[in-house]
Amino acid sequence: MFKRVLVANRGEIAVRVLRACRELCISTVAVYSTADADSLHVLFAEQAVCIGPPRAADSYLNVDAILAVAKATGCDAVHPGYGFLSENADFADACRAAGLAFIGPSGDVIRKMGNKAAARALMQSVGVPVVPGSDGRVDTAEEAQEIADRIGYPVLITAAAGGGGRGMRRVYERAQLQDLFREARAESAACFGSDEMYLEKLILEPRHIEFQIMADQHGNVIQLGERDCSVQRRNQKLLEETPSHALTNELREKMGAAAVLAARAAGYENAGTVEFVLAPDKQFYFIEMNTRIQVEHPITELTVGIDLVREQIRVAAGLPLSRRQDQVRQRGHAMECRINAEDPMHGFAPCPGKADFLYFPGGPGVRIDTCMYSGYEISPYYDSMVAKVIVQAPTRLETIRRMRRALEELTIDGLGTNAELMHQILYHPVFVRGNYSTAFLDEHLETLLAWIKQVEEAEG
Ligand code: ADP
Ligand code: ADP
Ligand code: MG
Repeated sequence: MFKRVLVANRGEIAVRVLRACRELCISTVAVYSTADADSLHVLFAEQAVCIGPPRAADSYLNVDAILAVAKATGCDAVHPGYGFLSENADFADACRAAGLAFIGPSGDVIRKMGNKAAARALMQSVGVPVVPGSDGRVDTAEEAQEIADRIGYPVLITAAAGGGGRGMRRVYERAQLQDLFREARAESAACFGSDEMYLEKLILEPRHIEFQIMADQHGNVIQLGERDCSVQRRNQKLLEETPSHALTNELREKMGAAAVLAARAAGYENAGTVEFVLAPDKQFYFIEMNTRIQVEHPITELTVGIDLVREQIRVAAGLPLSRRQDQVRQRGHAMECRINAEDPMHGFAPCPGKADFLYFPGGPGVRIDTCMYSGYEISPYYDSMVAKVIVQAPTRLETIRRMRRALEELTIDGLGTNAELMHQILYHPVFVRGNYSTAFLDEHLETLLAWIKQVEEAEG
C-alpha cells in the first residue's frame, strides 16, 4: 500500500480523499493556492504546501509545481480528484514518469476517452449504442450544415474536448445552425484549447443515466449500478439519485452490461463513469465516459456500501477489486443535492462571501461532504459548489422526505445559495412522481422561483 499520497485538488473532494487516506493509514500532503490558505483540505492534511497564486492555471493546474512537492515530500502516489488535472492525460503520464502512482486510469486511456468524438467511435466499434450523428470531427459550419440536414433537427453541437456542459449548443432550427456552430467552436477553443467539434441528434426529453464502473489491474471490471442525473441546468447536474425511476431491472442489466463493455473496450482501470442518455422510448445511447471519481459518487457508496475512493487507492496500488459483480447489491435509495454559492433568483449569479454561521443537518441517513466551516470565506476563483447534502432511506419517497428535512435544517448565513431551489424541487409533483427528464428544470424553473419568492415573502 502507498505510504504517502499527494492530493492534487481543493474543496470538498480534496477533503473526501484525505479522509479515505487517513482511514487507510496513509499519510497525506495537500497543495494549495494563496487563496486557499485557510481551507479545510489544508487543515486536514498532515502536510500542506503552497503552490502558487489563486488562478488555477498558476496553482492547481501547475504540473511542475505539484510534482516538485510530491518529490520533496516523499509521496508515492497522487490523487487528482475531479476537475483540474483529473482528466489531463499528460499529467497522468508525468506522474508515472516521475515514479508516482496516478490514482486513476493510464494517460492513454484518459486520452482515448477524453476526446468524446473518438470515444464515440470506439463505442460504436464494439456495439455500444451511440446517438446518431457525424462520423468523427466536423470542421466547418458548412459541413455541419450538411450533416445536420442529413440527421435531421434538432441537433446537438458538441466539443470533442468538452466538459462541464461547455462547448455545447442545441439547435432546433436550420437557420440557427451555422451561427451556433461557430459560437460553440469558439467557446471550446477558449475553454479547452481545442476546436474539434462533432454533431449528434438531440434526444428530446431524455434522462441522464450513468453507471459507476470499477476496474482493477487484473482484468476485473464491475459496474456498481446507475445514477439518474436528469435534474440539470445548462447540461450541468444539480441533483442526483439512485436507483433511477426510469429503469426496470431488465433495462438496468442491459445498460450495466453495456457500461462494462465500454470500460473493457477502453482498457479501463480504476473508477470511471459511463454516461448515457435514455430516450422516452427506452432506447439508450452512450454519450461519454468520465475517467475520474465523480461529484455524485456518494449516492453509489450509500446504496452499494463500497467506499469508492478507498477502492480507487487500493486498485492503484495493485490490489484486486474487493468485490465480484455477483457481490454487488443496490440497497434502498439515495439522493444528492449540490449546494452552490449562487443565486437562482438572479440568474444563478455566483455569491462568493464569508459563511458567518453554518449548521449542517444530521440524524439518520444524512451525509454532508463539504469544504465549509463557520467563518470560512468562499473564494470567487473556483467552482461555486460548496457542499453536497446526501441522504439515504429505504424507499424513494422516504428519501425525498428525508432530503426535505435535511435542507430545512441546513443553515448557511452570510452567502446566497441554491438550497431553497433544491428544497422546492423536492415538492414539485413532476419530480415527486419520478417521471422527469433533463427538460424538467428548464420547464419548471419559473414555477420553482415563484415558490421561492412566496417563501421569502412569508418569512419577511
Ligand atoms: P460530474 O460529471 O461528476 O457531474 P462535472 O462534469 O460536474 O462532474 O465536473 C466536475 C467538476 O469538474 C466540476 O466542478 C466542473 O466544473 C469541473 N469540470 C468538468 N469538466 C471540466 C473541464 N473540462 N475543465 C475544467 N473543469 C471541468
Ligand atoms: P459533459 O462533458 O459536459 O458532461 P456530456 O456529453 O456528458 O457533456 O453531456 C452533458 C449533458 O448534455 C448530458 O447530461 C445530457 O443532459 C445532455 N446531452 C448530451 N448529449 C445529448 C444528446 N445527444 N441529446 C440530448 N441531450 C444530450
Ligand atoms: Mg457528462
